[in-house]
Amino acid sequence: GSSIELHGVTKQFAADSIALRGINLKISGGEFFTLLGPSGCGKTTLLRIIAGLENASDGEVEIGGASVTDVPAHKRNVNTVFQSYALFNHLDVRENIGFGLKMRGMDKAEISKRVTETAEFIKIGNLLGRRVDQLSGGQRQRVALARALVNEPDVLLLDEPLSALDAGLRSELQLELSRIQRRLGMTFIFVTHDQQEAMVMSDRVAVLNDGRIQQVGPPQQLYEHPENLFVARFMGHQNLYEVRQQDESGLDTCFGRLVGEFERGTHVLIRPETMTVVREDDVNAGPNVFAAVVRERVYRGHVAEYTLDLGNDTEIVATCNNVGEPMFDVGTRVAVKVQTSGVVTFH
Ligand code: ADP
Ligand code: MG
Repeated sequence: GSSIELHGVTKQFAADSIALRGINLKISGGEFFTLLGPSGCGKTTLLRIIAGLENASDGEVEIGGASVTDVPAHKRNVNTVFQSYALFNHLDVRENIGFGLKMRGMDKAEISKRVTETAEFIKIGNLLGRRVDQLSGGQRQRVALARALVNEPDVLLLDEPLSALDAGLRSELQLELSRIQRRLGMTFIFVTHDQQEAMVMSDRVAVLNDGRIQQVGPPQQLYEHPENLFVARFMGHQNLYEVRQQDESGLDTCFGRLVGEFERGTHVLIRPETMTVVREDDVNAGPNVFAAVVRERVYRGHVAEYTLDLGNDTEIVATCNNVGEPMFDVGTRVAVKVQTSGVVTFH
């Protein structure tokens, strides 16, 4: 797959409508790269600019090391899979998948061979004779994917392709898509507003908000070291508190002092999986241990998730993998130990 570089890509639709504000990105050839952000943050606009379906107001797009500013959409070796399948209902599956190849004037035997191979690869070889309106949502999405893959593009752009599917089918196709991407070595730019989906599938993720990139990195880095409050919230973190005062030996929050050497910040995150919950009497008061009362508990098999009341209307969520131990009941007085490795500060 080709590499993609964006330099200062900006899109202004109208005086009061700026969709993208100076996007800089380097995506490697063969990378599974995800654009993650809330509705309206500019994800689709960015994909359309890469595909050549929309012009940037400013900035430059390079594909495979060359500027594509003057290259029209159909001459870029890029294919797009949209959220709505955009299939032709009056054609059967075989004709839908082969449509682009036919438009390019490829001969019939070659089209037939390629369509069959691709359909088998995507596990819809048995559906080739079906009409599109006889297919389920998951099957249609596979047809849309096959139609893009059959062109053997260097780059595949996927705009929320799984968001219309139900949860089970969705997670199945998530894994399958990452497998396909690895096998073909194509560059994938995948768009989603779903943090879980981004984490499961991607080599790297760019978090977008209001037309700006907030942070770029592998999923683990975004989750463990979010660089700002927006990314922390978008990664699903709940244990976020204001820093009231900070010095070399620690920082103060509304529920007490965290002792340790932390970077300066206005907010602090405590990652839920780095805490331990013990019985109140099993702990000697010390640094980073806080008295709490169990408000809620959820058994998730591999972890026990507690919502703890720290007093002053403050809650903290702790996920503990103390497998085999009995869970604390709601209302129990406990102590929660915070590990400094799970404490992240930012502005
Ligand atoms: P996302 O895909 O992240 O939901 P979009 O890229 O579709 O976001 O939209 C980003 C912003 O640009 C939104 O505020 C949207 O209203 C605006 N926008 C998108 N397309 C157009 C257009 N053709 N004309 C005017 N504004 C647009
Ligand atoms: Mg969109």
